[in-house]
Amino acid sequence: MRQMAIVGSGPAGFYAAEAALKVFADGVRIDVIDRLPTPYGLIRAGVAPDHQSIKAVSRRYEAVARDPRVEFLGNLEVGRDIPIDALLANYDDVILAVGASVDRRLDIPGDDLEGVIGSGAFVGWYNGHPDFAGLSPRLDTATVCVIGNGNVAIDCARILAKTRDELAASDISGEALEALARSAVRDIHLLGRRGPYQASFTLKEIGELGELERATPVVKPNDLPPAEGDQALETGQRRVVEVLRRFAATGPDSAKPVRIHLDFFHRPIRILGTSRAEGLELALTRVDGNGRATDTGETRIIPCGLVIAAIGYRTAPIPGVPFDAERGRFANVDGRIAEGLWCVGWAMRGPSGTIGTNRPDGQAVVERIRAEGRAPAGKPGGRGLEALAAARGLAVARFRHWEAIDAAEVAAARPGAPREKIADLARLRSFID
Ligand code: NAP
Repeated sequence: MRQMAIVGSGPAGFYAAEAALKVFADGVRIDVIDRLPTPYGLIRAGVAPDHQSIKAVSRRYEAVARDPRVEFLGNLEVGRDIPIDALLANYDDVILAVGASVDRRLDIPGDDLEGVIGSGAFVGWYNGHPDFAGLSPRLDTATVCVIGNGNVAIDCARILAKTRDELAASDISGEALEALARSAVRDIHLLGRRGPYQASFTLKEIGELGELERATPVVKPNDLPPAEGDQALETGQRRVVEVLRRFAATGPDSAKPVRIHLDFFHRPIRILGTSRAEGLELALTRVDGNGRATDTGETRIIPCGLVIAAIGYRTAPIPGVPFDAERGRFANVDGRIAEGLWCVGWAMRGPSGTIGTNRPDGQAVVERIRAEGRAPAGKPGGRGLEALAAARGLAVARFRHWEAIDAAEVAAARPGAPREKIADLARLRSFID
């Protein structure tokens, strides 16, 4: 029997498990390991709480988790509780599907001031991730700067802008819902260091900014290049630019009290403040024909009390696993790190693409494992891991414990909401019997 460990129970982990079940059929046993007692990773704690239809993909992962050849083993952190060598000793194949959980740093003066946070922390907070419960982002400020022109930046801006009613049917954490309802934020700046043609928004996400109850997008017509250039864009980007042109032509809705300023050509250079963030200094840029930004020599200061850097993520290194520090992911060739050690998803290729991108990714890596032809070596698999966990006094969360957590969260939901997430790790662990 082939014993496979998949580390990480988000989309990359479950698509790899699904692929391995197909390829190795009855010849495989798979343990899906997670450091939290709860499964689904990015789906639970990364996807925006007001995008419930995307979160529904977890039903597909649930079907994999319920397969008799698969076991969920939560509350085990590989690299801390369980060394990578121990996993390799117990399993024929180890696939790291741990995503990219570390915020990329701005690396500019003042980025360590209070009031400067990464999008991972902010998103984790409103999504009820135990690592960020109690983050208390400063919402007593009229102005927030969100740095980055990707979908994560849009998620942050949209959640900051939505009313309590607009969030009612979401699974946003109760703590975040209350804090946002009291928020003083009126101006949200979405700052791109390049222009509309280079923004990495997608159509649905940019479009949603025009449909908010109390917030209105502000796009400066002069930021848009001459329309003739749009024809050369690929379809997705052209549609995004069309929406930006519409926002610019319509102008902001003055009846709405919250403004989302899409400030293109702004490169952050310094965060101002002594003990906490009081402003953001930006260099104004222009973009050349190759999409490269250069500073114009002009600068601008936006007074603000909260800066959210939505500029991408890095994978958290695991001791003993070769790491590509420049790219912020495991050192690998097409998913292969070393004999018997693989990676998939963001841990393999960096934080890009949609959730669906992980499916072919997982299939390709499993196919490479099959093609390599290493025969199972009679390793103990889950039995060995559980013995190790028991010897170390580690409580392992099973899928049934998650089911109990799930039921408790659903039972505690606010009216109209799908669940109230338990963000307290001790409480989550209390479900492990
Ligand atoms: P992203 O799309 O790569 O965007 C990162 C942004 O940060 C880019 O605009 C980049 O600008 C900017 N940036 C990087 N370093 C910077 C710096 N030092 N200073 C200023 N700006 C900087 O990444 P993301 O928004 O984190 O999203 C990650 C992936 O998840 C993406 O594939 C995204 O589409 C996906 N996602 C999808 C959804 C959805 O479908 N609803 C929601 C969230 C995320 P440059 O382009 O100039 O480098």
